[in-house]
Amino acid sequence: MKEVVSDVVVIGAGPAGAVASALLVQKGWSVNVVERQEFPRFSIGESLLPQCMEFIERAGMLDAVKAAGFQFKNGAAFEWDGARTAFDFTEKFSPGHGTTFQVQRAAFDKILADEAQRQGANIYYRHGIRAAEIDGEGARLVAECDGEEVIFRGRFVLDASGFGRVLPRLLELDRPSAFPARESVFTHVQDNIADEKFDRDKILITVNPEQRDIWYWLIPFSGGRASLGVVGERSKIAAMGEAPEQILRNAVAAAPELAKTLRNAEFDTAVQRISGYASDVSTLVGPGFALLGNAGEFLDPVFSSGVTIAMKSAHLASDCLHRQLGGETVDWQADFAAPLKHGVDVFKTYVTAWYDGRFQDVIFHRTGQTEIKRMICSILAGYAWDRNNPYVAAAERRLNTLAEICAAS
Ligand code: FAD
Repeated sequence: MKEVVSDVVVIGAGPAGAVASALLVQKGWSVNVVERQEFPRFSIGESLLPQCMEFIERAGMLDAVKAAGFQFKNGAAFEWDGARTAFDFTEKFSPGHGTTFQVQRAAFDKILADEAQRQGANIYYRHGIRAAEIDGEGARLVAECDGEEVIFRGRFVLDASGFGRVLPRLLELDRPSAFPARESVFTHVQDNIADEKFDRDKILITVNPEQRDIWYWLIPFSGGRASLGVVGERSKIAAMGEAPEQILRNAVAAAPELAKTLRNAEFDTAVQRISGYASDVSTLVGPGFALLGNAGEFLDPVFSSGVTIAMKSAHLASDCLHRQLGGETVDWQADFAAPLKHGVDVFKTYVTAWYDGRFQDVIFHRTGQTEIKRMICSILAGYAWDRNNPYVAAAERRLNTLAEICAAS
């Protein structure tokens, strides 16, 4: 039986795994990445946030991402029953990158993985992890490739397996999410949007005119293509039709402004559905392992925070791991789990308030308060860890006060 040994074993070569492995090889550690699929492969999660550009840059991957010709992105536009508003991320409160990209994930994830490999990480594609023995002394993971078993040994495991949730399942760490089970139905289209006022540099979030907890994304790509999806509670999505394409077409027809924007769109790609994606775990760390990105907690797609959180977790974990492998005693709760969770909880506050309407009242309110708008803009740009922003430091209290003011006026 084949056996390979490295300092660190990373499960999954998505954004979290690629960034973490690049950062670790940069610091001199040997890293084997075990990836179930062959790249390029489809993944959902196509609208990035400016905050993640900092993590891409630190991982030494920014030039490659910039050179790929992805659609430039500088903000988010919102539409609800004729009301429109937009946030320009370059006007945000927090320092840092103010623009980013909207990416076909098959190409984007391959670039990140290739960059990690170029820097020295060994990626084993078509190797699916199916068993794990891990303790404070080290790890032994069993992978399968073309019917053969391969053993991966390492001093530490980073689980970046996304919705595969390898260690949460094998170590029984899964915990139900506090969010209800929602479903998303989505595809790629040739959008044929001729309206010159349509801003391809922004993701468009449309709220269903009748049901405010149903919303749509329209993420323009370069080359005249776009990602289109609808999100809602399972029962509400099921009420829209049976076959995925019928559901998506009916959903768009129920949002007249979006339907107008997409009147010439060609549905030329299979429509997919994914449900029950919100997830949580009892712990993000244990002896010999840490959970990154979606393998830990996943909230909701509405503010496009998934890739940013995945990369933030990769950064925090690789810093901790570098210190630990170098002989330091590391408090993973204090230096990894707690700081990561702080930003995730900020996003959670705004996601909760999006679905109960409070944050929608804020977003669609015509405010003259530009400073407050800049602070809200920072959160939408992914700067959920900037405690200098009062809407981060005291998210729930500040948001409630603002929502009350907006609802009253
Ligand atoms: P992934 O990107 O899922 O990568 C995990 C990798 O692990 C995969 O390549 C997989 O093949 C591999 N793997 C799985 N199991 C195994 C195994 N047993 N052995 C070996 N390898 C394995 N995020 C955004 O930032 N912007 C968006 O616009 C956005 N939209 C979304 C829309 C929807 C409907 C949903 C559900 C999510 C959306 N997200 C979005 C979230 C985004 O998809 C994820 O947060 C992001 O992909 C997480 O990255 P990751 O590296 O943790 O995992």
